[in-house]
Amino acid sequence: MGTVFNILAGERCLDLVNTLDNRPVPEKKLELLPDYASFAMWAEQAGIISRQKRQRLCEVALADPARATNVLSWVIELRESLYRIFDRIVGEQQPPKSDLDLVAHFLAQSYRAVRFRSTHGVYQLDWQDGEQLESPLWPIVRSASSLLTSPDLKLVRKCSVETCRWLFVDRSKNHSRRWCDMKICGNRTKARKYYSRTKLDAGEGARATQQ
Ligand SMILES: [Zn+2]
Repeated sequence: MGTVFNILAGERCLDLVNTLDNRPVPEKKLELLPDYASFAMWAEQAGIISRQKRQRLCEVALADPARATNVLSWVIELRESLYRIFDRIVGEQQPPKSDLDLVAHFLAQSYRAVRFRSTHGVYQLDWQDGEQLESPLWPIVRSASSLLTSPDLKLVRKCSVETCRWLFVDRSKNHSRRWCDMKICGNRTKARKYYSRTKLDAGEGARATQQ
């Protein structure tokens, strides 16, 4: 039931960026988060919230649709800032200060919701508490802040298929990952390469006979 999202970026903040599909082709742009329920479904599949929490959040959203619309607009605002930040970084350009400030603003907000959770006497920070519609935002913001301040920032890549350009962290052994997903974009590229190679072979063959 519902949309099955491709969670493959290796960081939640980049998976969020990838919820606007077909970015490079304006007429084909596809919004994968048209409403709060879709966002909650994405958050569950991204491992941010449990199924129970998603169901509870969706009930809260139904009871307060204006608030849900508001929270969704923050999600989209954050996503577009994250896109501009990481897209510039991949292109070795300076990200816009206003976008970095927005992420910092959300990060500060997230700390207002933080709690301590202890498991067998080991304490951790926890953002999962409560039924606030914005609560799935906090793990995304933390993912953005830790990626921005980590050496892995250098491993952020764009899918090499021009019409895709999904973002991901290349943590493959040789840092040779080229596609968001081998099955989707990898195979598409291989099929095209195969096609142009067979055409080339035919051409070379023809040239050979002319000589
Ligand atoms: Zn791709």
